[in-house]
Amino acid sequence: MRSEGNPPILLVLSAPSGAGKTTIARELVRKYGFVHVVTATTRPPRPGERDGVDYLFVDENTFRNWIEEGQLFEWVEIYGYLYGIPKKHLLKPLTEGKDVVLTVDVRGKRSIEKVFRNDPRVRFLTVFLLPPSLDVLKERLLKRGDPPEKIRERLEKARDELSYAKEYDYVITNDDLTQTVRRIAQIAGRG
Ligand code: ADP
Repeated sequence: MRSEGNPPILLVLSAPSGAGKTTIARELVRKYGFVHVVTATTRPPRPGERDGVDYLFVDENTFRNWIEEGQLFEWVEIYGYLYGIPKKHLLKPLTEGKDVVLTVDVRGKRSIEKVFRNDPRVRFLTVFLLPPSLDVLKERLLKRGDPPEKIRERLEKARDELSYAKEYDYVITNDDLTQTVRRIAQIAGRG
């Protein structure tokens, strides 16, 4: 990683499911040259999820090997599935001086924060996206084609997740997509 002058941004983006993290990460890649680093998981993909875009889907053997070899930042087990970020996937672009966006939940944010918050070689920044309202969130989940039982579950979970917003550097309401992306780029000093 470059140590002088203008370190790369490490942007951690969290939001309740459906609030727009993946969409915004994609825009930061397209318009501002960020690299989107995704979490590896042993959970099977949900319909519509794409390998390498939403998550890196790996089998349990591969994941366990990575653990043994110390290749992951702190990993977690949730409902029997393993989640973690491979060190090299994150360190490579940062070493090359590229800005990185990570889309993770609050647990992922906490574990990455432990590693990078005080590392002078990156500019560590955390952003929590809010949906304009729970009604709008519901509309977006519907539009995305999530099944009704998942929508109910995600809305319930969203209420919990919103309480984590206060531990992020910035909280932004993702109302208009273009404006949200511009605002994040400005915060990152890339706008
Ligand atoms: P997440 O990754 O947080 O689960 P997505 O990025 O998949 O959320 O976004 C959920 C849905 O909402 C998608 O269909 C996406 O196109 C749409 N969406 C995202 N941001 C906005 C926005 N600002 N305005 C309208 N629709 C949006």
